[in-house]
Amino acid sequence: MITAVALTGLALLAAGPASSSLAHGDWTRRYPRAGVATWFSLAILILTSLVGAGLSLTSESAAPTASGAIGSLMSSLSGPRPLAHLDFVGAVGLSIAFNVLAASFVIVLLTALRLRSERAHHRRILAVVGQHVEGRTVLVEYPEPLAYFVPGHGGRIVMSTGMTQSFDIDEVAAVLAHEEGHRRGHHSSLVLPFHSLGVHFRWLPFARHASGCVAELIEFVADDRAIQTSGRESLLRALLAMVTTTTAAPSCALGVGGSKIGDRIERLSSPTPVRHWQLTSQLGVLGIAALCAGVLWCG
Ligand SMILES: [Zn+2]
Repeated sequence: MITAVALTGLALLAAGPASSSLAHGDWTRRYPRAGVATWFSLAILILTSLVGAGLSLTSESAAPTASGAIGSLMSSLSGPRPLAHLDFVGAVGLSIAFNVLAASFVIVLLTALRLRSERAHHRRILAVVGQHVEGRTVLVEYPEPLAYFVPGHGGRIVMSTGMTQSFDIDEVAAVLAHEEGHRRGHHSSLVLPFHSLGVHFRWLPFARHASGCVAELIEFVADDRAIQTSGRESLLRALLAMVTTTTAAPSCALGVGGSKIGDRIERLSSPTPVRHWQLTSQLGVLGIAALCAGVLWCG
């Protein structure tokens, strides 16, 4: 029981105060790739802690490890009476572990299938109304400057005539480099688990923080790639020209508008000062929590 309580405490710590603190951490804006990796680490810590807490309840030992409980369960399954050693608490623990894993898998699968269908539908519309200009880039007749990336089947980079007519060649190249960054970085796959959480568990602070933060950090990662190929000034001019665009990209695509463009402009205009104590303390707490989870899992 003590292992289950400790692992549940770790999961609550990671899902509550730790995720809230990370969401307000400025350093992730400077190092967005590390920020995304930290959100993944936090999600894995929560998932493994909850599953481990459930599994440890299935053990008859007073202070079991989760891996030891798995060993007991596996040997029980090969015996004449599988799971017969479980009492009521053990059965509840096994049910918790199974349901947490199954729910995680199912919500990601359902969201992936829905997005796949919406993206296929959007690509069919683009095939009719758009004009292929180069490679995967599709030009769409639309008065406002707009660009976004539609993942799937190699992906489509969509840009509007409002953008090509009002932007200079360097600004168009910067926007295309940003969208290409989404394609090459497989950003839709990185965002998917957090987007799924945000859709199905919006009431959970972790899900709310993680879905919004990872989506924003992915934009920063693509911006950094665009800067490498097209320069900061070109990208900044393009974003400033798009800030008044009232049309948002389709929900199935990777694209942002409105206030999110404002955040990108702010980041490019004035490099975020990194508060190293914040970075060190957040990664330190995460490291200690991961170490504790490892000890509780493996002994
Ligand atoms: Zn983007």
